[in-house]
Amino acid sequence: MPPKNQNASHCTCKYCGRSNQDTPNPWLPPELREQSGKAFLQFRRERGKECTSCCALIRSKKRDFYDAPDLEISLQNDQRKKDTFQSDLEEFEAKKRDDFTAKSNRIPAKRVEASHSTGFKMRMVMGYFWPIDVLRRERKEIPKTLTTITYNGRNLRGIILDSSHGTPIGVIEMESYDDKTASKVTLLYKFVSGANYISYEFTC
Ligand SMILES: [Zn+2]
Repeated sequence: MPPKNQNASHCTCKYCGRSNQDTPNPWLPPELREQSGKAFLQFRRERGKECTSCCALIRSKKRDFYDAPDLEISLQNDQRKKDTFQSDLEEFEAKKRDDFTAKSNRIPAKRVEASHSTGFKMRMVMGYFWPIDVLRRERKEIPKTLTTITYNGRNLRGIILDSSHGTPIGVIEMESYDDKTASKVTLLYKFVSGANYISYEFTC
């Protein structure tokens, strides 16, 4: 038993002969009819005699017999016209269903794309800046040439060492971020490798 429309007064279309009581909405895919709130064939007016689908089809056609004032009568008497109308109507309604499916598919596709977007934040460790007081406290040899950096508004003098020298409290980790919005600044630091100083230029 097909479901029955309990909510609307009875209408039958004068063109296609279908009723709003037991004809599923031909513009919607079956799985979407219930949730749409328009599960059955729609009519333009309360107790109307023209279904929305036939009206839209007739408006969309420029052929003579669609414009005829006696279309309703010729559909009843002329089997060939009736067949043409029926096949046009089926094609028209299938296109409406396809358009609806395409439209409802587009929205979730975008959401999936957004929820799967992944990014990597990259940073390069450039070494550790040892301020001069940390060098003294840790009893490190203090070279003659020192590097000056600005940290939290203070100018600090010291040297940059790699992690093999340890990272005691007070050293400053030097990192280069991959951040396209950051302005490019070229810095020149002196790195210590064993006993030798190496000039090392990098852009951050
Ligand atoms: Zn109709």
